[in-house]
Amino acid sequence: MPYEHVALIGLGLIASSITHAMRRAGMTARITGYARTAGTRNEAARRGLCEVFDTAAEAVDGADLVILCVPVGAMTDVVRDIAHDLGNGVTITDVGSVKRAVIDAVLPLLPEHAHFVPGHPLAGTEHSGPASGFAELFDDRWLLLTPPPETDAAAIDRLSAFWQALGARTDRMDPDHHDLVLAVTSHVPHLIAYTMVGVADDLQRVTESEVINYSAAGFRDFTRIAASDPVMWRDVFLNNREATLDILGRFTEELFALQRAVRTGDGAHLQDYFRRTRSIRRGIIDAGQDTPAPDFGRVRNRES
Ligand code: NAP
Repeated sequence: MPYEHVALIGLGLIASSITHAMRRAGMTARITGYARTAGTRNEAARRGLCEVFDTAAEAVDGADLVILCVPVGAMTDVVRDIAHDLGNGVTITDVGSVKRAVIDAVLPLLPEHAHFVPGHPLAGTEHSGPASGFAELFDDRWLLLTPPPETDAAAIDRLSAFWQALGARTDRMDPDHHDLVLAVTSHVPHLIAYTMVGVADDLQRVTESEVINYSAAGFRDFTRIAASDPVMWRDVFLNNREATLDILGRFTEELFALQRAVRTGDGAHLQDYFRRTRSIRRGIIDAGQDTPAPDFGRVRNRES
């Protein structure tokens, strides 16, 4: 039994999925929680996700695992609120989509008797809030841990075992490398999706009803990604600036090369390029991170 009392700060998609996955795994740990607004706290309590408290300090009192499930930009304020209430030997982790900025902000605020093991589940959907969670969210998805070098090894192993019990595969990564990898696989793709949907929205020659009624699979997939939580994604870009700008620069160069190929009618360039990108898709399926089943827009894929 990895933990006896798990405290969740923030009660949205990730936190509610953790509660469902803990119950599915048969964990009997006490689960307490806190969210900023009374509306979210009331909904979480009504759904029986956990024991809900009106302050973060009460929620973490006596916990041996505290999981920060708030937007990246809110981590500092939350940790300031709970730092004095963390018990001896507690493990504190987070699920933020950016790691370096969270570590730099949170680590100096924590007492020495707390083990800080930052984490990021590579699992999510475009939905948010306490009603959006489900037990299968982490199944076969990676949970990347980015602990600072001096972190207690037993605390890391214990947290890995917890996430594995929730269905995840775990691995360790350097935080800066994590931010670069995620800029490629998640952050910049989201920015591109936001842009494409914004372009369609701005295009005066195509009406909104045409965009909606005749949306083809490519655009539909973009709209799903671009429906993701605005606050969460604002914080991702504000806190992973360097890697985002690096990858965006490379993206722009590739886009110009493709633009030139289209203008000059260079079909060989386009075909070669698309052949290469198609093999990436095959690699993702072979790695068990997606299914090969065709999605004609009828079956909703829950993972982003
Ligand atoms: P969410 O569904 O929007 O939930 C966020 C929760 O944080 C809400 O309960 C919100 O409470 C609470 N919150 C916000 N500011 C707060 C503050 N200052 N103090 C206390 N609580 C606060 O978000 P989520 O999707 O679970 O994301 C949570 C974290 O997981 C983020 O850091 C995100 O980067 C990371 N993540 C998300 C995904 C994904 O696809 N969604 C995937 C992997 C990792 P109120 O409702 O009361 O405002």
